[in-house]
Amino acid sequence: MVREQLRDGHGRDIGDVRVSVTDRCNFRCQYCMPADGLPWLEREEILSFEEIGRLVGLLASMGVGSVRLTGGEPLVRRDLPRLAKLLRSTPGVEELALTTNGYLLERHAAALVGAGVDRFNVSIDSLQRDRFYALTRRDALPQVLRGLAALAALPQAHPVKVNAVGIRGFTETEAIPFARFAREHDYEVRFIEFMPLDADRSWDAGQVLTGEEIRAAIEAEHPLVPCPRERHSTARVYRFADGRGRIGFVNPVSEPFCADCNRIRLTADGRLRTCLFSLGETDLRGPLREGADDDELERIVRAAVWRKELKHRVNEPGFVQPERTMSAIGG
Ligand code: SAM
Ligand code: SF4
Repeated sequence: MVREQLRDGHGRDIGDVRVSVTDRCNFRCQYCMPADGLPWLEREEILSFEEIGRLVGLLASMGVGSVRLTGGEPLVRRDLPRLAKLLRSTPGVEELALTTNGYLLERHAAALVGAGVDRFNVSIDSLQRDRFYALTRRDALPQVLRGLAALAALPQAHPVKVNAVGIRGFTETEAIPFARFAREHDYEVRFIEFMPLDADRSWDAGQVLTGEEIRAAIEAEHPLVPCPRERHSTARVYRFADGRGRIGFVNPVSEPFCADCNRIRLTADGRLRTCLFSLGETDLRGPLREGADDDELERIVRAAVWRKELKHRVNEPGFVQPERTMSAIGG
């Protein structure tokens, strides 16, 4: 059944949902999780694959055709390819993407591609083993690079994207090695500005290494040519002037793209979030488990989405960091 397009109160059509499949993770990235982890959700609190399938199916019937699986680390959820297959065959789902830290990718890449995952983002913040360890608190760079290579060997997985968070005092020395990496391999590296969603709540604006600063540093060694911006794309993408490779910059802090935002998020425990920085959220798991039919769920979703935030307020005085961290929201 096709329903009316999902739209917010500011006239933005919603076409993209990020689904967190778990709040757990096998890494402890400094900008995301504390060293000791967080109190994890209980098993029964987490949506089952069938519950995720039902909600994604409803959203897809309202025009939300782009689905991304994330977490926590999505690959620590057992049997993830089964969920991928279920979602990819859901009417209205046009694209299924996955964001992963890559640690378990060597083992699962082929099954995920086989299950219909169309696009992959692998998060890597340093190409030096000791610095990778310092940031993620796991000595896992060789394993992640093997996972990336396993993925890259599958033609259907291309173009593979690599995400790196831009942190002042850390990422400056990574920029050129990542540029070379993007030129030598068929990976599009994307730098993402550090956002105030860290568990330690130690973010401050001075720690954000902006996309423009990184771009300028790369441009000084490797001339860049801007690529046309795709609709709803959050990234400014450039190609290297000599035609070898591409590089992108996602600048939510220095250049917010809220006016064009078409996203919502579903947490692992079934809450709908209309912005990464939302201070409130809407419970869908409760009504779902109490037997709400699709029309009732549709009403709840539409009412929540209608109130989607006009923009984030990270750069404004009085900004309040949400209680949930990035790992518990689903980045
Ligand atoms: N565990 C998977 C991973 O790391 O790719 C998926 C979940 S992770 C929360 C999704 C993305 O959010 C990663 O690319 C990660 O680097 C990014 N991220 C986490 N905390 C962030 C923060 N405070 N600011 C900017 N990006 C962040
Ligand atoms: Fe885990 Fe991803 Fe957060 Fe790192 S960024 S701690 S890999 S959820």
